[in-house]
Amino acid sequence: MGDEKVAMDSQNLMEQSRNHICQTYNRYNLALARGSGCYLWDQEGRQYLDFLAGIAVCSLGHCPREIAQVMYEQAQQLVHVSNLYYTEPQVRLAEALTNSCFADKVFFCNSGAEANEAAIKLARKYSRKGYGPGRHGIITMKNSFHGRTLATLSATGQQKIQEGFEPLVDGFRYVEFDNLDAVAEAIDKTVCAVLVEPIQGEGGVRVPDSKYLQGLRELCTSHDLLLIYDEIQVGMGRTGKLFSHQHEGVTPDIMTLAKALANGMPIGAMLTTDKVAEAFSPGSHASTFGGTPLVTAVALEVFRQISAASFLEQVRRVGEYFQQRLLALAEKYPFIKEVRGRGLILGIELDFPGSEMVRQCQDRGVLINCTAEKVLRFLPPLIVTSTEVDRLIETLESVFRQKDK
Ligand SMILES: *Cc1c(COP(=O)(O)O)cnc(C)c1O
Repeated sequence: MGDEKVAMDSQNLMEQSRNHICQTYNRYNLALARGSGCYLWDQEGRQYLDFLAGIAVCSLGHCPREIAQVMYEQAQQLVHVSNLYYTEPQVRLAEALTNSCFADKVFFCNSGAEANEAAIKLARKYSRKGYGPGRHGIITMKNSFHGRTLATLSATGQQKIQEGFEPLVDGFRYVEFDNLDAVAEAIDKTVCAVLVEPIQGEGGVRVPDSKYLQGLRELCTSHDLLLIYDEIQVGMGRTGKLFSHQHEGVTPDIMTLAKALANGMPIGAMLTTDKVAEAFSPGSHASTFGGTPLVTAVALEVFRQISAASFLEQVRRVGEYFQQRLLALAEKYPFIKEVRGRGLILGIELDFPGSEMVRQCQDRGVLINCTAEKVLRFLPPLIVTSTEVDRLIETLESVFRQKDK
């Protein structure tokens, strides 16, 4: 890369993107060039406070020094071999992950969707071994989100994501989230698993009743179904515990991770118990890039930092402060219907579509997101402090005051 390379201006860059990249995203008018901590800079050098963190990915902030160092050192030692061979960073990461939760075994892949694919395949295989064919159904929730591959969009309980891609992968049935009776009713002899997000992220930051996971666990155990948690968004410290379900202390049979696992390098993981993992044998499943030495070395350092008790404590503390400030806003502005979330996944539901609010925050140098049409969602880097939270709240206030006029 030559020093003479001239940066494209934002307008030109966005136009070239429209010319050459498949138009699958509704992008904001913003081309980002650089990041550090909780801040990003656009092509022209304008600064933004980032309360999205690449959708819950850059939990340690942008380009943290220790992570860059690990990346640099591992890149000089070994980047990729093949899963036909053993490598130390992969083993160390698997050890760290399994020591921190219910799981005994891990399968590494490259994304959230792939982690869920692995979970779906494993659930089917496990059930096939115990019960023979015909018991491959998986109960999932309405307004869930599990990915964009054919199987995971079939698992996703949202029609708008499935439309046009039919026929879907067979066997998924969708029930209302946070409703145990609906799950009980959907169980029959063709069902092998229940797949659920402990907190729905894309669905609008929905936290279920504190007894919900326990209820699902009991239903699954009594019908010999596998309970699968999709912790891709809410795992890795986001809620103030390493894994979201650890708040309730109700363990699954399978859990999927991705997003924050390597702070922005692509990785996914499916974790499970020895008993369930036995359904996979050599040749059952594979990935060329899954768990390379480079990505797992980075993930191991991310894990080391995020799993520290003091780090998680800080997430809980800042999260509580943030939530209090949002609740105070809700007192002032009646168009805020509800404040929801846990730790540093927080959302406010408006009584009107939120996209204009997102744009106005961007104009004021703050990046947030809107999901489920009316929910402003906040997923800051987990390193945020009350200072950044105050700045976000001030920005929201100035946008809301404008709205009131
Ligand atoms: C983001 C997300 C996925 C999909 O992850 P990709 O890496 O985009 O494939 C799946 N489930 C949940 C809960 C997510 O938030």
